[in-house]
Amino acid sequence: MLNQLTISELAAKLLHRKVSSREAMQACLDQIARVDGTIHAFISHNAADALAQADAADKQIASGVIKPLLGVPIAIKDVLAVKGQPLNCASKILGNFTSTYDATAIEKLKAAGAIIFGRCNMDEFAMGSSTENSAFGVTRNPWDTSRIPGGSSGGSAAAVAADECIASLGTDTGGSIRQPAALCGVVGMKPTYGRISRYGLVAFASSLDQIGPFTKDVRDSAILLGAMSGVDPRDSTSVPQPVPDYTKALTGNVRGLKIGLPKEYMIGGLDAEVKAAVDTAVKKFTELGAEIVEISLPHTDYAVAVYYIIATAEASSNLARFDGIRYGARIEGNDPLELYSKTRGAGFGDEVKRRIILGTYVLSSGYHDAYYLQAQKVRTLIRNDFLKAFETVDAIITPTTPTAAFKIGEKSGDPLQMYLSDIFTISCNLAGIPGISVPCGFTKNPKLPIGLQLLGKPFGEETMLRLAHAYEQATAWQREKPPL
Ligand code: GLN
Repeated sequence: MLNQLTISELAAKLLHRKVSSREAMQACLDQIARVDGTIHAFISHNAADALAQADAADKQIASGVIKPLLGVPIAIKDVLAVKGQPLNCASKILGNFTSTYDATAIEKLKAAGAIIFGRCNMDEFAMGSSTENSAFGVTRNPWDTSRIPGGSSGGSAAAVAADECIASLGTDTGGSIRQPAALCGVVGMKPTYGRISRYGLVAFASSLDQIGPFTKDVRDSAILLGAMSGVDPRDSTSVPQPVPDYTKALTGNVRGLKIGLPKEYMIGGLDAEVKAAVDTAVKKFTELGAEIVEISLPHTDYAVAVYYIIATAEASSNLARFDGIRYGARIEGNDPLELYSKTRGAGFGDEVKRRIILGTYVLSSGYHDAYYLQAQKVRTLIRNDFLKAFETVDAIITPTTPTAAFKIGEKSGDPLQMYLSDIFTISCNLAGIPGISVPCGFTKNPKLPIGLQLLGKPFGEETMLRLAHAYEQATAWQREKPPL
C-alpha cells in the first residue's frame, strides 16, 4: 500500500511515474479515515487542500521537475506554523488562530516539493510525555490502543506508525521526538541545537527546543534532516555549519567506530525487557565491527531536576505572550489584569499552569540564584560530561525510555512519575547534542515497541545516522507493523 512506503521508496516511484502523488496522498487520507477515529493522531486535516497540493506536485513531475520530496505527504505537529493552517499547540488559548507565515523548516520542505498536511496532536505547548495533556483529546498507541503513544509529539509518532502519512515533524525539548518514536516503533531524531531554524516553532523552552523528523527508516531521517537544516537569519541560534548530504553517511560500515555505554544509564527503574533488548543491540554493534567502551556521565542524576528548572523558567517567560490581547481566545474583564487572569485561567490546561507557576517561582527574586542560576551551572557540567566522553568515543548508546508504552491514565495523576519517563532523553537537550531513537525490539506480552537511543557529538549527525542505519539494516525491526 502506498501509505506504507518510505520517502525514498515513494520518491523513486513518483520519479519513474509508477504512481501519482494524488494516489499516495489519497492512500494516506483513506488510512486516516479508516484508523484515526481510534488513534486520533490528528487534531485536524484538510483533505481538499492536501489533494490540491498533490495535484500541483503531479503537474510538476509531469513537466520534468525533479525535487527530493516532490509529492511526498508529510504531517506536522500542531506547534509549527504553516501558512493558512490552524495553529493551536493543542491548547484552547489560541482559539481559532491561523498561521500567517511558514516556519523556516516548513518553507524548506515546501521548496523541496513536500505536501504539508494535517495538524498532529500533542501535549499542550509540548509539555508532557504521553499526549494526554491535549485540549483535543488523547492519542492512542497504534500497537495497543489502551496505551499512550508517548509525548509530547505523540500524534506525529502515531501517524507514522499507523501509516497515516509518509513521515512527520515533531519537536524535542526533553525527548518529545525520541520518546514517542521509541514507544510507537518508528525512527525519531533530534538534531544538534542550532542545526534547524526554530523560526515559526512556538517556543516552549528556547534553549532546548529543536525540530526533527519522524520516519519509517533511518534513510528518511537523513533525507529530512538535510532538507530542513541550515543557518537562518530569522533564528540567531541557528548555526552557519555546512549542510552535508546526510544520506552519503549511510555506508553500512561502522567498523572501528567507538560507542560509549554510560554506566549511569543502567539504572533501577529500567524495565528488564528494555534492558535485554538494548544489551542485544549492543552485541549487534560489536558484531558489526564497532567497539563498545564503558563511559561515565557523572552528572546524569541531576538532569531531570535541572531540566525542570530551566524548561519551566523559559516556558514561564515564553508563554507570557498568550494574554488574550495579542492572539487567540479572550475572556473580557473589567480591567487588563482581570482579562489576563480570566483568559489564562480558562485557556491553559493544568500541566501548562503547573509549569508556569514553577518557572515563575525559580526565576523570582530570592530564589533565582538558588534554583535558576544553580541549574545553569549544573547544565554546563552535564554538557562537559558529554564533551569529555566524546574525546574517546564517536557516539553514545542508551535505552530511549525506561519502559515500553504505559496505559492511558497510568501516570497522568502523578507528574513526577511522568517526568521520570524522560530520564534518558533529557540530558541530550541540556547538552545540545543530537540524538536518534531507532526500533530495537518488542516486549513479549503485550507486544510493544522498544527504542534504542544513539547520541552524537555536536553536529555529529553523520556518524550517528551511519550507526543507526547499519543497525537497522542488520535487524529490520522497523519493518514490523502494528495490528490495525
Ligand atoms: N516530556 C518532557 C516535558 O514534559 C519533554 C517535552 C518535550 O520534549 N517537548 O517537558
